[in-house]
Amino acid sequence: MNSLDKERLITREELIQFGLQYLQGVGTSYICNVCISNGGSCCMNCSHLEDGKGCKQRNTSCTSWLCGLLKFLFYEAGLLEEWEHFWEQVPGRAFRQDYTPPVVPIQKGIQIPNIQSLGQAFAKDLARLTKKHNNLDYIITLNNELDRYVTRLSIYNDFETLEEAKTELEKLTWGFYSFRLALQDYRNR
Ligand code: SF4
Ligand code: SF4
Repeated sequence: MNSLDKERLITREELIQFGLQYLQGVGTSYICNVCISNGGSCCMNCSHLEDGKGCKQRNTSCTSWLCGLLKFLFYEAGLLEEWEHFWEQVPGRAFRQDYTPPVVPIQKGIQIPNIQSLGQAFAKDLARLTKKHNNLDYIITLNNELDRYVTRLSIYNDFETLEEAKTELEKLTWGFYSFRLALQDYRNR
């Protein structure tokens, strides 16, 4: 299944697999690898996490959830809105678990992107900057701040708040040179 472009019934398991394929298409695994190896994992202390194996209980909630780093990537790639609207169709998402029914009607589908190079470039910058900052809290703080400002851009309308959020995002991601280049390339396609 490469896309969900028609109204149809989708099983919960298909939704999770589709979400994972979409994330793969954006290259998020490169970023997660850097984040996890530097202590920023969002799965920390979760009872469903198995040492050396990963998540034992994949669910629609964790699949659809985006941390600040991924939210910023999706925002810059112009995919955040479609991703959020897609998952709004899926009921029963909760914290680290779901109550999603076995089958869900999906009215509006989305196409799996093929922009792994964006995630890869972001991860490259993140690894370099993490090393440079040499501070265990760097990734966690960056993640929280990106989440805060991208969320503001998504929900607020007033000019001042939007301008402030854009300026803060520029400051936070100053130094993400590889990502900026990859983004320019992607936008010029
Ligand atoms: S916090 Fe974000 S980048 Fe880190 S492991 Fe979780 S989803 Fe991946
Ligand atoms: S349930 Fe969610 S938070 Fe827990 S290990 Fe799985 S993906 Fe990570």
